Amino acid sequence: MDSLTHIIGAGLAGLAAAIKLTEAGQRVVLHEAAPHAGGRCRSYFDRTLNATIDNGNHLVLSGNRDTLAYVQAIGAQDQLQGPEHANFPFFDLSSGARWNVNLSMGKIPAWIFDAARRPPGTRPQDFLALLRLLRARPHQTFADLELCSGPLWERLVRPLFLAVLNTEPAEGSAWLARNVMLETLVAGGRACRPLVALHGLGPAFIEPALRYLEQRGAAIHLGHRLRGVELGAGQRMAALDFDTGRLALSEHDAVILAVPPNVAQTLLPGITAPASYRAIVNLHYGVAPPAGCAPITGMLNSMSEWLFAFDGRLSVTISGADRLLDLDREELARLGWAEVAAAAGLPLEPMPVWQVVRERRATFAAVPEAEALRPATRTAWRNVMLAGDWIATGLPATIEGAIRSGNQAARFLLRDTH
Ligand SMILES: Cc1cc2nc3c(=O)[nH]c(=O)nc-3n(C[C@H](O)[C@H](O)[C@H](O)COP(=O)(O)OP(=O)(O)OC[C@H]3O[C@@H](n4cnc5c(N)ncnc54)[C@H](O)[C@@H]3O)c2cc1C
Repeated sequence: MDSLTHIIGAGLAGLAAAIKLTEAGQRVVLHEAAPHAGGRCRSYFDRTLNATIDNGNHLVLSGNRDTLAYVQAIGAQDQLQGPEHANFPFFDLSSGARWNVNLSMGKIPAWIFDAARRPPGTRPQDFLALLRLLRARPHQTFADLELCSGPLWERLVRPLFLAVLNTEPAEGSAWLARNVMLETLVAGGRACRPLVALHGLGPAFIEPALRYLEQRGAAIHLGHRLRGVELGAGQRMAALDFDTGRLALSEHDAVILAVPPNVAQTLLPGITAPASYRAIVNLHYGVAPPAGCAPITGMLNSMSEWLFAFDGRLSVTISGADRLLDLDREELARLGWAEVAAAAGLPLEPMPVWQVVRERRATFAAVPEAEALRPATRTAWRNVMLAGDWIATGLPATIEGAIRSGNQAARFLLRDTH
């Protein structure tokens, strides 16, 4: 039987599905609406900075097993770089204090008992509260678990899970946080090393994936938007309607819809999806990081949350940043620079060349109500699977969640057709 899988959307979910199917010897065609692949995880040339930057600074952890397997499969494992140890430097803007959170590499959390390795002002017994997080249920927020106060909350738990959920943790899903924690913090420092694509998301996740697929005969159509679908008899999708025309599906063909939730809902009737989104703001400054500047620094009591040091550029990430969407760009850049200059020990004037990148719908809001709306991989149509960071993976909208959703769609298709 000569089956073909059409994958709609060449973000990480679509690329991961394409790679898994290609690895299994299946024929694949990728259709991407944009003129480039990568979706929300991509690099592009910015003329103001005269540099290639990412649409957002992305951090993954060494415990993100599907992410690591993905970069390994496409031969890009060297692109993800980070310290040997699970070490997180922090800078408190209000006091000027600096400290390191330095996790033990094994599963036994000895670091909790060493004042030099945990946030200042915390005590070992404070960490017992995190056991509550491990018992979190899908309807619970951090506030429901009464975790939202004290130095451990302010100096570690809130900043960490604000980044993970892209949602203020007090209102965020404690259950999603728990699932991430089980695969990272609970697994020990070996699973918590911070990893960054220092040369950009494109060279780490996208270009090698496209090369891998092309070398194995997959067809990749960029600028090829799916406008609609035809649903046929026997609960099967019968045709795809692209900008360029109609494409009839044979009885053995399958479709993976790896598009954002709002697009999937317009294409397929009856699909539920998380209803609200959260923004991420990135501020970039064209200045060489000073010697000794860590690749990532957590920032507290500041608008800036994480400071990334790239070659020739310092860059700030602010999660759950909807409050900043309407602020004047230059004002935002100046506010951020004052904080970055303090953190990096650089002069306030002159402000280097800057860029503000606001991703309005960066991820769905990881609130408990969203969980019930996340659909399964399988749909009511026998030859159609869903993929994307918003599918019910049990993970927040992350690289790991997107790749896992794509892997799962491919696995289900292979299972159903063999
Ligand atoms: C600023 C920012 C910072 C982030 N930081 C992190 C981080 O630090 N760590 C982390 O793990 N995650 C992070 N994320 C989340 C991560 O980027 C996403 O979870 C992931 O990229 C989502 O991949 P996806 O394939 O599910 O969706 P998308 O990337 O949205 O891919 C969907 C694709 O479908 C295409 N498409 C849409 N409509 C059509 C159509 N009709 N026909 C054909 N194609 C179509 C789109 O163009 C897109 O390419 C961040 C996201 C942003 C925006």
